[in-house]
Amino acid sequence: MASATASIPSHTIVSRDRKATQIGAVRHVNLVSSISQSTSTRRLTVGPLHAVEPGKRAEAVVAPKAVSNGAVAHVEKRVEEVAARPVDYEKLAAQLENASPLEIMDKALEMFGDDIAIAFSGAEDVALIEYAKLTGRPFRVFSLDTGRLNPETYQIFDQVEKRYGIRIEYMFPDAGEVQALVRQKGLFSFYEDGHQECCRIRKVRPLRRALSGLRAWITGQRKDQSPGTRAHIPIVQVDPSFEGMAGGAGSLIKWNPVANVDGKDIWNFLRTMDVPVNSLHFQGYVSIGCEPCTRPVLPGQHEREGRWWWEDAKAKECGLHKGNISQEVKAGVNGNGSASVNGTADIFETKNIVNLCRAGIENLLRLEQRTEPWIVVLYDPSCQFCQGMEASYVELAEKLSGSGVKVAKFRADGDQKRFAQEELQLGSFPTILFFPKHGSRPIKYPSEKRDVDSLLAFINALR
Ligand code: SF4
Repeated sequence: MASATASIPSHTIVSRDRKATQIGAVRHVNLVSSISQSTSTRRLTVGPLHAVEPGKRAEAVVAPKAVSNGAVAHVEKRVEEVAARPVDYEKLAAQLENASPLEIMDKALEMFGDDIAIAFSGAEDVALIEYAKLTGRPFRVFSLDTGRLNPETYQIFDQVEKRYGIRIEYMFPDAGEVQALVRQKGLFSFYEDGHQECCRIRKVRPLRRALSGLRAWITGQRKDQSPGTRAHIPIVQVDPSFEGMAGGAGSLIKWNPVANVDGKDIWNFLRTMDVPVNSLHFQGYVSIGCEPCTRPVLPGQHEREGRWWWEDAKAKECGLHKGNISQEVKAGVNGNGSASVNGTADIFETKNIVNLCRAGIENLLRLEQRTEPWIVVLYDPSCQFCQGMEASYVELAEKLSGSGVKVAKFRADGDQKRFAQEELQLGSFPTILFFPKHGSRPIKYPSEKRDVDSLLAFINALR
């Protein structure tokens, strides 16, 4: 099995039943428990949780003639009934908490068919592709080709395509945007002013494009990759940052089948199954991204120390050392017109951060008794230190969601700067204010350490 080469024309294989029943946000066709082996999906695939001989897979997925018209009609009716039911993903995540990655992968593929894809970075997340193959179901894989990857990563892409008989759906950055960035700032601007701008162009926007054609995606995130930022990754969740094909918040589901798996167990699995891996792993690389932004780590060093390492030094100033794509923000969540002003893309764009307008923050200032405390960042989206704390602040908002502390932002550049200097203690960007529950005067965060733990300590000391 280890060396088997499956032939899966993955993006062309989809049950018409499922395609015909696309539905709105946080609703989808739940084929898992309601439609059993009698469905066309089951007929079109071999049983889950077993490796499939390559030659049989292609046949297995193109045999709809075996299904009678009556059976198809029955299945379509059942699919329509099931499609109307919303799914409680928190409950589903709890149910799957102790499931194996293989079971989780099987369920994800069964539920979303052709509208789900595996995000493959060219690193150890190749395990996801192996798990997908083992389910016997058709599957899709996409990857972000930033144009700055290592040659070894392109080689593993090629090997994976050949081994699994798939075509990886590469997403490329917008050529005009890359050209403008490089002409204006050079090829290595990220060493000077942080990786956000380049990542936004080469990664986040292509990712957003990829996800806008899906209803769900599968990532290789694991809790042990970063105890500080990924400790609470659920097996499945409504994506908090990106939108799916139906558009709007809640229109995309994110699966993390290996969330509970240890890195060493992933490697045991890869070795056991003889899965091809990126040869950079044999040179000390653990986490693998773009060539200029990735380096090997020493024994005992955390894998994230191999990414954007020059920003670790800056962390003392701006708290930036997070590289979690799940924290990448989406535009327009708050929908109050701050997405882009003067051509500058807004930041801190997530549903967990309230976007305060001038009247909103004036109101907050006036209140003597608030129903809950607020933390507010005064920012300028073009400020590199504001950009530098973006990931931390987004993560902070996620952590504080539902905790009784409101997290907000107020754009204090341009016309608002003078007001912010006079009324809101703005010195330099970013300025962070805590509005306690009782008492009108906001308390200014005194430190330049803007990592999540430092900000949380500040809030917890005052709330
Ligand atoms: S990882 Fe580096 S090269 Fe790649 S997109 Fe981000 S900043 Fe640019």
